[in-house]
Amino acid sequence: MQFIRESLVKLITETSTNLPPDVRQTMASALEQETPRTQSALALNVIASNIDMAQEAEGPICQDTGMPTFLVKTPVPFNQIVLRNEIRQAVAEATRRGKLRPNSVDSITGKNSGDNLGPGTPIIHFEQWEGEDVEIRLILKGGGCENKNIQYSLPCHLYHLGRADRNREGVRKCILHAVWQAQGQGCSPGAVGVCIGGDRTSSYDHAKLQLFRPLDDTNPEPELARMENEIMEQANQLGVGTMGFGGKVSLIGCKIGTMNRLPACFFVSVAYECWAFRRLGVLLDAGSGAIKQWLYRDPDRPVEKLAKQAGFPLTGREVVLETPLTEEKVRSLKVGDVVLVNGPIYTGRDEVHAYLMKNPSPVDLRGCVLYHCGPVALQQQGVWKIHAAGPTTSMREEPYQGEIIRRFGIRAVLGKGGMGKKTLEALQKNGAVYLNAIGGAAQYYARAITSVDGVSLKEFGIPEAMWHLRVKDLMAIVTMDAHGNSLHADVEETTGASLEMIGARE
Ligand code: SF4
Repeated sequence: MQFIRESLVKLITETSTNLPPDVRQTMASALEQETPRTQSALALNVIASNIDMAQEAEGPICQDTGMPTFLVKTPVPFNQIVLRNEIRQAVAEATRRGKLRPNSVDSITGKNSGDNLGPGTPIIHFEQWEGEDVEIRLILKGGGCENKNIQYSLPCHLYHLGRADRNREGVRKCILHAVWQAQGQGCSPGAVGVCIGGDRTSSYDHAKLQLFRPLDDTNPEPELARMENEIMEQANQLGVGTMGFGGKVSLIGCKIGTMNRLPACFFVSVAYECWAFRRLGVLLDAGSGAIKQWLYRDPDRPVEKLAKQAGFPLTGREVVLETPLTEEKVRSLKVGDVVLVNGPIYTGRDEVHAYLMKNPSPVDLRGCVLYHCGPVALQQQGVWKIHAAGPTTSMREEPYQGEIIRRFGIRAVLGKGGMGKKTLEALQKNGAVYLNAIGGAAQYYARAITSVDGVSLKEFGIPEAMWHLRVKDLMAIVTMDAHGNSLHADVEETTGASLEMIGARE
């Protein structure tokens, strides 16, 4: 087993930095389908560049490297205890190298273990098989899309769709509803793994397992294959689009499995996966631990670049924002404006918001851009460097944001997926805007950071600390302005009407 650690670190690194060909293929076709010059097309271009950058630099595709979940098959006499320990050590090593963000947090104290090890992390499922080799599959599923997972207990009533009964039609409604409710918050276009049946826990587990299927396979069950095609067609008529900006492509995959259920229970569980669909696998020699074969990859097909051009083409109509921002400048912005941010900005996510609700800010936030972001940061010779820095889901801060904008004089909130009514009111009242960055584009945004000027509240752990960043030409779209307009509210309403129409089809 002399190569086992090296093989596992390689698997984790490749999974975090290099999307598999089936996902690349669907993203390439999303790029082709989307109407040029729309916000969704712009976002897809950035995503394509980000995918290429991540592969070239061997950096995380998204700063949220998710919950490492391993599926392992071993031959009968193989020592699983040793392998479990090797997997754990490889996860810690990949974290040290900045290929995984430290993501394992004590649920009571909030303390980050710093190495992705802790009770329940990583997740490792073992089974035995008759094969001679060891098969290991890995998925890195981030928190933004994990929060959009949803479970239905049929019969139930669904917003826009009415009653969902215990039949095929009820299941179809649930899956469409699951795609709709995610909007852009799970970084659409996404894929869904679905389980019909099981109990509460096994059903969710089986739904997630479906995400290990290649996006281009065909379900061996003809009825389920028909359903998958139908959902793909109908969900892509909803109009959610990339990042929930409105557009033609909302779903890149639908994989459905079934489990037997108790007569009294009828669960439909949906695991929502973002476009940053990081999933790979290897076959290892059971003696040496060396990689014999990569799964999901075709050795005859080299990785092709996805982006036709780097980043997105500047039109000259972008609005340049120099921080700190003035109220006048902010009030001149409107939904749809593309902005380029220059100057110092500060990160702040869940822990920072909870802190600011009760304490003074460690820095003067007047006129600032507050970035909802938990970066991958490494310190080398005393200097911090940001290795991945895309936005996190803003909606989690909805209960606090309005109050924090008011109290600290923040002029712009930068995040993804949009925010709700309370924040929209606060933007209008206090003269502030919401800027939507492209979710998952962590390499793209890391390149807009010219320096790390400091860090506050580091005791919250790397992702939750307040990072003082200096940025140049950081691109985002105004999706909520200071005049009461919200692109997110508009898209939710129009897609809700589409859902109603599509759902009514039998
Ligand atoms: S792409 Fe979006 S949902 Fe996916 S892991 Fe990154 S931030 Fe989370």
